[in-house]
Amino acid sequence: LYETNPLPEICGRICTHKCEDVCSVGINGDALSIRWLKRYIADQIDSSDYKEILNTQEIYKNDKKVALVGSGPASLSAAYYLSLLGYNCTKLEKAGGMMRYGIPSYRLPYDQIDKDIDYILSLGVNIEYNVNVDAKKFAELKDNFDVVYIGTGLHLGRSTGIPGTDHEHVFQSIDLLREITEGKEIMVPEKVVVIGGGNVAMDITRSMARLQMKKYGKVQVIATSLESEENMPADREEVVEAREEDAIVNPGWGPKSIEIVDGKIKGLHVVKCLSIFDEEGRFAPKFDDDNKNFFEADMVVESIGQGMDMSYLSDDLKEELKFGPRGRLDVNEYFQSSLDWLFVGGDMVQGPDVIHGIANGHKAAIGIDNLLNK
Ligand SMILES: Cc1cc2nc3c(=O)[nH]c(=O)nc-3n(C[C@H](O)[C@H](O)[C@H](O)COP(=O)(O)OP(=O)(O)OC[C@H]3O[C@@H](n4cnc5c(N)ncnc54)[C@H](O)[C@@H]3O)c2cc1C
Ligand code: SF4
Repeated sequence: LYETNPLPEICGRICTHKCEDVCSVGINGDALSIRWLKRYIADQIDSSDYKEILNTQEIYKNDKKVALVGSGPASLSAAYYLSLLGYNCTKLEKAGGMMRYGIPSYRLPYDQIDKDIDYILSLGVNIEYNVNVDAKKFAELKDNFDVVYIGTGLHLGRSTGIPGTDHEHVFQSIDLLREITEGKEIMVPEKVVVIGGGNVAMDITRSMARLQMKKYGKVQVIATSLESEENMPADREEVVEAREEDAIVNPGWGPKSIEIVDGKIKGLHVVKCLSIFDEEGRFAPKFDDDNKNFFEADMVVESIGQGMDMSYLSDDLKEELKFGPRGRLDVNEYFQSSLDWLFVGGDMVQGPDVIHGIANGHKAAIGIDNLLNK
């Protein structure tokens, strides 16, 4: 397992398991449950036995230093493989990644996250918590380390920008999920509409459904998306499970406006979505304005994707760096940016899930070794 994946407890539970889509056993029945097998294997081994089994009791350290900003799966993966190669890795983390603060604990228990991460840290990876890397800190990292790796993910919620989104009871899913994880008391009204059809939208839909069930003994959450049922980006099982929790998933609608009467949200006006992309594959949704619907709500949650915050890159650095489509940093096959000493990984360059981050973090570790071991 560890040759290609240093987060087996995590992936064994929440991996998007695309491997099963191409499993040849699936041609004549169900694919092998590769994800659950991974979980089963990892669950059998006590963490105190890892070092002996993986032969990592002693690792020779060289004098090269790598700073890794963020502690998501991409930077954990890079730190793991770099540590095995003898590099001195220091991770800087401001809060805690999507795996802990985004994915609800009923899908990914925290002790399983800790089991994977503690093993990586036990290989001598330093981690500095509560460090928000800003432009000044970033300049220090550049001066004091041989390589800087950034895997700071996508953490800024995006808004549809439709009329009414500036109301105080319109929230971003990512903010609410974090508050729920932190145990904060959040607003739980009787009627909620979630805009979005991806896994994050399903997570907030189910989380709100559970909170409503606890508070009112019934669920009134509607999740709606531009995509039709068959094109929803969420995993099928997430949609099925949201419905099993009594949430309504009503896809194929475009949000038009949030109705507000006397300062209170009344609901979301939508029109039928006919298509989302134009012939060139650009985002250009078309609607049937005569086919309208209205979803009653006291609160609206937007869950239409996240943007990145790279405010730690100074203007001078941004001038020097090359950017590709959608403002993403341009990287080569080893996830090295146009500046030799700067590598990038995770959702910032290639999402949308944990296993992509693990894979590109691994590739970056190989690229960093190629650079520093010349
Ligand atoms: C609600 C939700 C559910 C999801 N469900 C799944 C799922 O079931 N399966 C799956 O495979 N994927 C899922 N994902 C996606 C998955 O979590 C991400 O693809 C993955 O975590 C991205 O990893 P990353 O390495 O890019 O960084 P992230 O996990 O995003 O972590 C980035 C880290 O950088 C830190 N950081 C950011 N800026 C700074 C700074 N300036 N200074 C210091 N630290 C900083 C952040 O605090 C964070 O810890 C889900 C995401 C969300 C939001
Ligand atoms: S980590 Fe890889 S092999 Fe394991 S379930 Fe995910 S995609 Fe499949």
